Amino acid sequence: MTDTTALRRRVIDMLPDVIALRHALHRIPELHYQERETCKTLRGALSSLHLDVLPPLMETDTIGLLSGEKAGPCILLRADIDALPVADLSGAGWKSEHPGRSHACGHDGHMAILYGVLRTLQEMKREIAGSIRFVFQPAEEESCGGKALIDKGLLEIAPRPAFAFALHGWPRQPFGTLSAAPGPAMAAADTFTIVVRGKGGHAAMPDKASDPVLAAAQVVSALQAVVSRGVDPLAPAVLSICRIEGGHASNVIPDEVALEGTTRYFDRSLQPLLKGRMERIVRGVCAAAGCTADLTYTEGYVPLVNDADAVQRARRVVTRLLGDMAWSDVHPLTMGAEDFAFYLEKVPGALLRLGLGESWSALHAASFDFNDGALEHGIVALAGLALDVCAT
Ligand SMILES: [Zn+2]
Ligand SMILES: [Zn+2]
Repeated sequence: MTDTTALRRRVIDMLPDVIALRHALHRIPELHYQERETCKTLRGALSSLHLDVLPPLMETDTIGLLSGEKAGPCILLRADIDALPVADLSGAGWKSEHPGRSHACGHDGHMAILYGVLRTLQEMKREIAGSIRFVFQPAEEESCGGKALIDKGLLEIAPRPAFAFALHGWPRQPFGTLSAAPGPAMAAADTFTIVVRGKGGHAAMPDKASDPVLAAAQVVSALQAVVSRGVDPLAPAVLSICRIEGGHASNVIPDEVALEGTTRYFDRSLQPLLKGRMERIVRGVCAAAGCTADLTYTEGYVPLVNDADAVQRARRVVTRLLGDMAWSDVHPLTMGAEDFAFYLEKVPGALLRLGLGESWSALHAASFDFNDGALEHGIVALAGLALDVCAT
């Protein structure tokens, strides 16, 4: 069994380097599939650890293997690496150098934690029977980068992982605690586009036109009934329309209006129901207004489902290494989505939440910056899990 004190001391000793790496990454936030500088910085930091790093599968990923001295199972650990198109108003001394972009979801913290985990485990290779597949993954926020890597064969590369874990920094959770719950934890997320087509004309002669603006407004209202009247009240679901665009002048009725939005749900059987009702409503409302409409419904993220045994293992490891108070059983469902769900469809594991503090800025807010104080807990938890899976 891992010597708890020795592991924590090792982690505490390397924290200044981990924090410096986090701040360096915070300065260079890059959007999905543009993470070239981030990749270069990561590969530079990993080079001194002498790990087996693969050529990229998708240009901006950094994937490799840390092998223990004895044979055993493989555990996959993932950190997401992309940033958001959100200005950095955190006021941090390591502010974003890329205007209009920031690590407002804390992925800089996730990368620094995985670096700390690998450095810790590399120093403890003698105590590892098995291997650690590490994945610094691009495009979590958009484009489902995790799914793209899996489609490219990530999980078939030998040795195939027996378990998969990742963590996400979590405001509104007590500082330094870890949490997870068995079963669904995060929602499926699909997107849709609706184009309403009518017949434009003079604003003063609406009777000569078929107004797609009015039809689109009625579509927005009518779609609210999809969830409120079509879905079992005990099954969570959301339908949000987030963009509406049409027209170019105050006195011209346009020919078309475009709408965009998202649906969220946990039960996958709801997807055809949501899609079918949307189609019916959009078609009916637009026909009544003398317009036509095209609905394009695109499948996105699947629901994230934690494996019960993996959660139990995480709980046991965290409480042993960090104390009983370090585990939180409070793990509310969220309609947010996460592409680690695609890994958990294929490999048992869990996405742990790492508490950044109950009053910490919200994820995706311009004021958000990762809590450096929580890095230690994240490293100990993930390194401890790897040591537990690969126990000699
Ligand atoms: Zn995010
Ligand atoms: Zn995130």
